[in-house]
Amino acid sequence: MGRVSGRSCIVTGAAQGIGRAIGEALLDEGADVCFADIAEHKVAEVAEANRPRAAQNEAQVTYAHVDVTDRSAVQAMIAHTVEIFGKLDVKFNNAGVNRPMNFLDVTEDNWTFIMNVNGLGCLIGMQEAARQFIRQGSSGKIINTASVASRQGFDNVAPYCASKWGVVSLTQSAARDLAKHDITVTGFAPGVVATEMWEQVDRDLMDIGAAQRPGQAMEAFSSDILKGRVATPADITGTTTFLASKDSDYMTGQIVMIDGGMTLV
Ligand code: NAD
Repeated sequence: MGRVSGRSCIVTGAAQGIGRAIGEALLDEGADVCFADIAEHKVAEVAEANRPRAAQNEAQVTYAHVDVTDRSAVQAMIAHTVEIFGKLDVKFNNAGVNRPMNFLDVTEDNWTFIMNVNGLGCLIGMQEAARQFIRQGSSGKIINTASVASRQGFDNVAPYCASKWGVVSLTQSAARDLAKHDITVTGFAPGVVATEMWEQVDRDLMDIGAAQRPGQAMEAFSSDILKGRVATPADITGTTTFLASKDSDYMTGQIVMIDGGMTLV
């Protein structure tokens, strides 16, 4: 019996990186998982690749094509999951984007793109998951992906930091509002995790002249990590499965830092 056996979960941003690892760790512990992403073919392949893992754990797997900023697509993703798994228990709002720009160069387009996916996407994801929990008359868990950038402003990524501070306040507001429905809302805050997002950030920082060679930006960001190394997605999933399990039932409104001691707050 796994820690999340029989739980129906959706993970957004699950075609790669942290989201894919969250979904796979949930399957390992017996949960039914809908991998959801805007990258339709990739997320379909991820779901397909995970069929043996699901079978091994007596779990089910499916996928959904979703843009988290599109409410009707989010509703369709939830309806699809409920149709296949019979209910929804846990919703991870994990999809996120970054597009570094020097502070003085940040444009309205850059701001809107990042705030829409990371901020509005989180709000819509929480609202629609909560509506489903209320409709089915059950408790539920919402888990948001924050960041060390939710706790400190960093240069060259101002809109990203603002969006991730927004995830913290949205988590707190939703926790207060949804407690009466027995819905908990938590989040976790990774530091530097070796994923495609960081590879892209590394390239972007070179493009804007903030770094001179590949890997330099990641080294600079991670020089203060007490654990002495950057994270892999596997460093994150012990906590995310805990947050999806009954073991965290008395937690709400909180963000768990998983940054190897990068920011002590
Ligand atoms: P990633 O870029 O590897 O994966 C992000 C996924 O989100 C991609 O599959 C992408 O297709 C999907 N996505 C983007 N926009 C979407 C949209 N509108 N709708 C649906 N899906 C969309 O990133 P990652 O490193 O795995 O990051 C996952 C989450 O963790 C993000 O919220 C990110 O901000 C956060 N985070 C990452 C790090 C890190 O160091 N990698 C640190 C802190 C927080």
